[in-house]
Amino acid sequence: MVEIKTAEQIAKMREAGLVVAAIHAATREAAVPGATTKDLDEVARKVIAEHGAKSNFLGYGGFPATICTSVNEVVVHGIPDEKTVLKDGDIISIDAGAIIDGWHGDAAFTAFVGTGHAPELLELSRVTEESMWAGIAAVKNGNRLVDISRAIEGYIRRQPRPATGKYGIIEDYGGHGIGSEMHMDPHLLNYVSRKRGKGPKLVPGFCIAIEPMVSLGTARTHVLEDDWTVLTDDMSWSSHWEHSVALTEEGPLVLTAVDGGKAKLAEYGVTAAPDPLA
Ligand code: MG
Repeated sequence: MVEIKTAEQIAKMREAGLVVAAIHAATREAAVPGATTKDLDEVARKVIAEHGAKSNFLGYGGFPATICTSVNEVVVHGIPDEKTVLKDGDIISIDAGAIIDGWHGDAAFTAFVGTGHAPELLELSRVTEESMWAGIAAVKNGNRLVDISRAIEGYIRRQPRPATGKYGIIEDYGGHGIGSEMHMDPHLLNYVSRKRGKGPKLVPGFCIAIEPMVSLGTARTHVLEDDWTVLTDDMSWSSHWEHSVALTEEGPLVLTAVDGGKAKLAEYGVTAAPDPLA
């Protein structure tokens, strides 16, 4: 069952999404050499408190922090701690969420710590982010869920291969419905699977978190003994980007982007829906 939202509920999700955007801005600024991932978690905790929001990550399935901090070969679900000190040249994916009046937002980005990153790392993050936007541009009335998967995978496959061989599109994790809970039906693959059908039709009120995860090597992952930290099997570095998106009568609204997705969607010839809070 896919939860279809009213305009009022989407407006609440937009409020939550803007809190997530504020967490992104603050943690992006704080992700400098010498900072610990615990420091970033503290920054996120404060932003949530300042906005009168609640954390959807803290306590989720026992998760012990407000954000996920995934450094280098960690794909997703890294737990912030005091011993992980960010170094010049690291990359970090920060995944954050917030709840306003019971409505959820969820988004992630990859940041570069310090300077001097190899061109293939810059390109890895760019390809991952852009594949997310290609997926968001496919959130159209009348499309099917698989059209989002196809847009994400298609974007990545069309890019020049990295020096390491090829991009690994992580298969063990994907996007998800979002609304009155953080993770809801349907699950969204970041690739097209012949074993799956086309998925539900996209209609106004459909909301989805789109989150490609891409590595410079394998698509395969494993989980550490802490039951959370997900690494690539070959220890290749990876990137993770995510936005929560609502489909309206007037097209997609990117709930967790400050401008509602306006600028990036325009590059794909898509007009973002008007911001209900503007
Ligand atoms: Mg998510």
